[in-house]
Formats: sequence, structure tokens, C-alpha cells
Amino acid sequence: MNIIKTKKRGSLIVISGPTCAGKDTICRELAKINKNIWISVSCTSRPIRGNEVDGVDYFFVTKEEFEEKIRNNEMLEYAQVHYNDYYGTPKEHIKEKLDAGYDVILVIDIQGALQIKEKIDEAIFIFVLAPTMEDIRKRLIKRGYENTEQMIERFKTAYKEINELTKYNYVVVNDVLEDAVNKVNSIITSEKCRVDRIEEVHLSNEEEIVHEFLVDKDLKNEEIDI
Ligand code: 5GP
Repeated sequence: MNIIKTKKRGSLIVISGPTCAGKDTICRELAKINKNIWISVSCTSRPIRGNEVDGVDYFFVTKEEFEEKIRNNEMLEYAQVHYNDYYGTPKEHIKEKLDAGYDVILVIDIQGALQIKEKIDEAIFIFVLAPTMEDIRKRLIKRGYENTEQMIERFKTAYKEINELTKYNYVVVNDVLEDAVNKVNSIITSEKCRVDRIEEVHLSNEEEIVHEFLVDKDLKNEEIDI
């Protein structure tokens, strides 16, 4: 019999960080080395970008459809992030995946992370950072999705979000991608070893312990002084 039995249920891992910190890239790479994770696909009312795929990058819906989902209590958390566009985590599948033992990852903004913190005590919060603000600026410009005004807006939000990083349990600087991915994976692994994940410890009384030790017949015939 195993000495301890730990919870089979997966962990809920929230990953946030400023724009262009590489959260999605880290998760994509993580999925290649850790087959026990399930990355939630968020819903958004923001317009679809060039190479994005509906149902893969996000579920793209209209503002009205999103508001309908809020009214129907379908969202685990939601927030208006950039330019009043809605972003949110659909409740569907999350419980089922956690119960099946998957570690569920939510890549969401700080407002959403704080809502999860209120609702789910045992969730793990990881903040991903770019090494410098200059890196963020360069990545925003290189990516070229937004006009200058929108990029400044995202840059401002990045500063605000960094101020909140102490509300998280871990911080990972995405300097070398592979290192950042390994760090996030190590955090997930360490969390599995937490003592508060133990459900049962196999304990016996003294008589049972002696009996347990003497299961081997040869030992019973020996003179044992306990
Ligand atoms: P983007 O428009 O660049 O895809 O994402 C903008 C921001 O929205 C990012 O900070 C991203 O983490 C956040 N975001 C994406 N999905 C969700 C979600 O489901 N809920 C919340 N609260 N934020 C999200």
C-alpha cells in the first residue's frame, strides 16, 4: 500500500503578464513537453487578427453575444481589457478537466486573475515578464497589429499590470524562451509536491506495524526483541 495518497485533481494555473511578454508562446511550448496540461480557450469580443483561428486562439463573438454569456452565468471570470473589448474564461470544460487530473491553464489579464483569486483558493498565479520595457516596446512595434495610439494604450496597461505583480505567487522573466518554459513547468511540478495535496497518509497502530514488518516468514522465526 502506498504511504500517501495525493489529490488526483489537477491544479488551476493562472498566467498573466504585460502585453508581448510571451505568455501564449510559453504555453504553446509548454504543451509540447507537458501532456498533462489543458489550456483554456478564452472568449473575446475583440476583432480577429491576421493568422488567428476561431476556436483555437479565442472564441470570437460579438459584444452582444458576450453580454448574453455574462447574463447566462457562463463565464468563470471576465474583464474589459483593451478598448473595452471583453475577454473571459468560459466555465464549460474547466471543472471536468480538473476532475480528470489535468492542470488547467488560464492565460488572462490581472482583473480576471483577481476574480479567480476570490473564487478559487488553491489556484496558482504566475506572472510572466519581458526582461525590459524596451523589449515590450520593440515587440509591440515588430508585431505591428495596432496603430501607434493603440500601442501606447497597451504600453500604458503594461506598466499598470507590472505594479500588480506582487499579487502573484511566482514571477518568470521570459528572457530565453526555453528557460522560461522550463521554469513554468517546474512550478507546476513543485506544486504537485505540496503537503496540502495529501489526501491520506497510511498509518497503522504499533501491533499492525510489527505485523507489517514481519510479513516475511523467515523473519518470524528469528528471535526479535522489540
Ligand atoms: P490580446 O488582445 O493581445 O489577445 O489579449 C489582451 C489581453 O487579454 C492579454 O493580457 C490577455 O492575457 C488577456 N486575456 C485573454 N483572455 C482572457 C480572458 O479569458 N480573461 C481575461 N480577463 N483576460 C484575458
